[in-house]
Amino acid sequence: MKITEHIAQSPGTTQFTFEILPPLKGQSINQLFDVCDELMEFNPPFVDVTYHREEHVYKNAGNGLLEMKVIKKRPGTVGICAAIQGKYKVDAIPHILCGGFSKEDTENFLIDLDFLEIDNVVALRGDALKSETYFKPNTDGHQYANELVGQIADLNKGIYLDDELLNSHATDFCIGVSGYPEKHMEAPSMESDIHFLKKKVAAGAEYVVTQMFFENQKYFDFVEQVRAQGIDVPIIPGLKPLSTLKQLNMIPHRFHVDLPEAFVKEVINCKDNKAVRQVGIEWCITQSKELKKAKVPFLHYYSMSKSDNIKAIAREVF
Ligand code: FAD
Repeated sequence: MKITEHIAQSPGTTQFTFEILPPLKGQSINQLFDVCDELMEFNPPFVDVTYHREEHVYKNAGNGLLEMKVIKKRPGTVGICAAIQGKYKVDAIPHILCGGFSKEDTENFLIDLDFLEIDNVVALRGDALKSETYFKPNTDGHQYANELVGQIADLNKGIYLDDELLNSHATDFCIGVSGYPEKHMEAPSMESDIHFLKKKVAAGAEYVVTQMFFENQKYFDFVEQVRAQGIDVPIIPGLKPLSTLKQLNMIPHRFHVDLPEAFVKEVINCKDNKAVRQVGIEWCITQSKELKKAKVPFLHYYSMSKSDNIKAIAREVF
């Protein structure tokens, strides 16, 4: 079922949802099933599965030279979505990227999703490769997420890349995109970032999922600014409980979000990671309760494929 239909079916309520990562290559899907088994009691209408593009890895070639290999460390997004839909009878939402995809790859990926009866897809640009400073699209790929949304919306109208196809089947994907309550790191201003968010919606996006944030006011302000620009699609808040001391530096660095001073102080005063984890859980419960009171349609938890802290939060909130 489409995300927009899930919202229409349960107006005014806040539902529990979460995101998982494919396991590292060589590991079994069972560890993801373990996470899902633990979290299904909170009746998520959908589960997101991230997509991880290729990486350039340098290996010692044994002759004093380095050999560059292109590898995918976390393949399996589509297979995991199919497995989750089959096993748990909930919607699984794959993320799809511009990075690493030609338009033809994108079309074929979407055809697989359509055949698997996957109704939703989150369309993203993706980050630059670690070996690049700026994001570079594939030859014949998309530069920005709004172009990718446009291709999916075209397929929803039966428009394929080969315009000689006759009587082509129109897909029916509900398209989600990202939003940044603290602005995307490359955007020169919030106004500019929201301008381009509007382009994604104009191209066919039907809902927005936000980057994590640790201060709800950032989300409320973002929603207000987005609405002021005439964007009226649902904006689903994404939350992540902090779980280690190391993340105090890693999260602002990796995701370009601020941690409120009061929260930082609490974390710094913890004597070990067990205590940090508890502070992270409690902070996230407080955030979740306030957002639920504001009647957001879903609370979307970035689980990092770990269930225990998300379960502790969900028990208090749902
Ligand atoms: P875009 O919307 O294309 O925006 C990128 C930047 O360009 C922004 O600064 C924007 O303001 C600007 N911009 C946008 N359109 C234009 C335009 N037409 N002209 C000029 N400038 C423009 N990454 C993964 O690799 N895999 C995942 O599964 C994944 N899931 C994510 C889920 C969520 C909810 C979020 C918030 C992020 C996720 N990411 C994922 C990270 C994401 O890929 C990065 O944040 C990436 O740097 C930007 O992707 P985007 O789709 O937001 O880009």
